Amino acid sequence: MAKNYQDLKKEVWEEEKCAGCGACIAICPADAFVFSPGDFHPKHTEYCKEASDGVPCGACYEVCPRVIPAPSDRPLMGESIRLLSAKAGFEVPGKQSGGAVTALLYDALEARHIDAVVTVTEDPWTHRPSSAIITTSAVLITQAGSRYNWWVPLMAALKEAVITKKYRNIAVVGVPCVVQALKRIRQSDNALLRPFRSSIRLVIGLFCTECFDYQTLVEGKLLRERKIETWKIRKFEVKGALDITLGDGTTVHLPLSEVAECVRPGCAVCTDFTALDADISAGAVGSEAGYTTLISRTPVGEGFLDHAIQAGHLVAGPKVDQKAIKRLAEKKMKRMR
Ligand SMILES: Cc1cc2nc3c(=O)[nH]c(=O)nc-3n(C[C@H](O)[C@H](O)[C@H](O)COP(=O)(O)OP(=O)(O)OC[C@H]3O[C@@H](n4cnc5c(N)ncnc54)[C@H](O)[C@@H]3O)c2cc1C
Ligand code: SF4
Ligand code: SF4
Repeated sequence: MAKNYQDLKKEVWEEEKCAGCGACIAICPADAFVFSPGDFHPKHTEYCKEASDGVPCGACYEVCPRVIPAPSDRPLMGESIRLLSAKAGFEVPGKQSGGAVTALLYDALEARHIDAVVTVTEDPWTHRPSSAIITTSAVLITQAGSRYNWWVPLMAALKEAVITKKYRNIAVVGVPCVVQALKRIRQSDNALLRPFRSSIRLVIGLFCTECFDYQTLVEGKLLRERKIETWKIRKFEVKGALDITLGDGTTVHLPLSEVAECVRPGCAVCTDFTALDADISAGAVGSEAGYTTLISRTPVGEGFLDHAIQAGHLVAGPKVDQKAIKRLAEKKMKRMR
């Protein structure tokens, strides 16, 4: 019998290793995983094709990024074809860094190289994130910016995009744990994963140190303890500390030690800072303010990057400070248990 949800339960959930990426939820053909917002791992209905009916499956175990050893022997910044600072060649009001991720996706949607983007959006009043499918460049621009809080798994929307809506050229934006799961989907020869494998065209990975639990950080620490109402928050930014910009222009500065208790438990075993398995990785560190650091790692990534630059949607900037990226990547690598 192939490994299945029972093994995920033992090896991942009970060991507090679950990243909450949602890959198992997205690909289960029996729709047997359920996720209650705020939980640290999915639950299972205990009806399983493999375990209950003896029908070969094992898809959930096969895609989980936490059942394999964390990367430890790869170059700190991973493989790269091109490393550059870049920004959007047009106005992106809510951009997190240089708006380069929005520009890449905008270009790909406009050129019809992709038909949908699976990503994380958020409610502007509560800042509660959700897994979403975006199909137009106009909506894409309104959803720029980083969601550092976690509420539901990113890949919840992947099933809808692939199975229900039948998009066949999907770009997925995700933090490194999500990117690792996508790599496992792309590399698997499990027939049940074929529709996912053949529909994922581009994977953009965001650099990531950690992710906060929405309930603990926003509803607990900010709202109840600090009396910061969510609708007053304009932007979250993590740059050595958590900076929260409010609507009146003031900033609340929280040292990371103060918000350590809000970090999701699954992040404690995560060692990948730059999304080593993405087609293109993107982050703030390494670039001047107003620019995004981009690492294109695969010929696919390079193709999308090149097209966006040629079209003028993406504009290259000054040289990248590689040392700054390596410093953070090394720090995260040392987290290994
Ligand atoms: C949890 C988290 C932690 C991060 N930590 C670091 C860090 O430590 N150091 C660093 O240099 N950079 C970090 N980043 C990346 C950084 O915040 C920016 O996302 C990156 O620089 C790209 O900026 P941009 O202006 O080009 O993106 P934008 O043009 O603003 O576009 C961002 C895109 O990402 C999507 N998105 C936002 N949040 C998520 C999410 N949680 N999951 C999937 N998609 C999402 C949006 O829908 C949008 O399409 C982090 C990002 C996240 C989400
Ligand atoms: S890490 Fe992702 S695939 Fe693995 S159990 Fe958690 S949600 Fe499922
Ligand atoms: S640190 Fe980032 S990439 Fe790693 S598990 Fe947490 S959210 Fe995922």
